[in-house]
Amino acid sequence: MPMADVAIPRGDAVALTRALVAIDSRNPALVAGAPGEGPVARVLADVLRAWGMRVEVYDALPGRPNVVARAGRAGARALMFNGHLDVVGTDGMTHAPFVPEVRGPRLYGRGSTDMKGGIAAMCAAAALAGDAALDAELIVAAVIDEEEASAGTRVLLERGVRAEMAIVTEPTELAVMPAHRGFVWIEIVVEGRAAHGSRYDLGVDAIRHAGLLLAELDAHAPGAQHVGKDAGDRPLPRGSGHKRRVARVDGDEGTRQRYRVAARDREVSH
Ligand SMILES: [Zn+2]
Repeated sequence: MPMADVAIPRGDAVALTRALVAIDSRNPALVAGAPGEGPVARVLADVLRAWGMRVEVYDALPGRPNVVARAGRAGARALMFNGHLDVVGTDGMTHAPFVPEVRGPRLYGRGSTDMKGGIAAMCAAAALAGDAALDAELIVAAVIDEEEASAGTRVLLERGVRAEMAIVTEPTELAVMPAHRGFVWIEIVVEGRAAHGSRYDLGVDAIRHAGLLLAELDAHAPGAQHVGKDAGDRPLPRGSGHKRRVARVDGDEGTRQRYRVAARDREVSH
């Protein structure tokens, strides 16, 4: 896209949010045939170059580029702003997903909160802070694939990008979240044994056992007040507690012999 189409006033986070929301960047790992981050990454890179930042664009996955932009003194101790360019699908949305619309104090459109607004805010902050002749470097990392497997940040680290501190501008209800849960997938296979439908007492019903397992997981669900602990067993602040949800249940076709339960634990969701 030529620069004329994306002239965003320097440091204007709202205008940049609108420009980013207008570009479909659904994650192709979540939505078959989705365009991914390429088009939005190219526009963001153009904007940040025009804002005077040192910009690097490279594929973290084929056709899916990270944008890394720097301001301030190269090589000085660094503060990284990190955000993701991908968005989730648009099923169930009641307004046009890629037509950013301002209604009252809010901006609507897919990704306006999670997290093109955050991307725009961190880009504006980094560009303007870079003007202040700080003895520090500001690194903007606009990465791919956070909504699926976080390949973007993983490749960023593999390429040796480091910072003394980092701020992730995910939406957190405007509260500072000094802790992160991380996440882990657990897949449990419940084994059964086939038997004739009239002699089910001779078999083992994996579906029923999977139901008992789900009920047991619920019984151990942490309460809303649960918080995580640090290495010294001290409670961590808000945002650190773990959540658990069962994300997928499926079974082998027709047999009731195997049932699969995938639980996603310790996830930060927005
Ligand atoms: Zn997010």
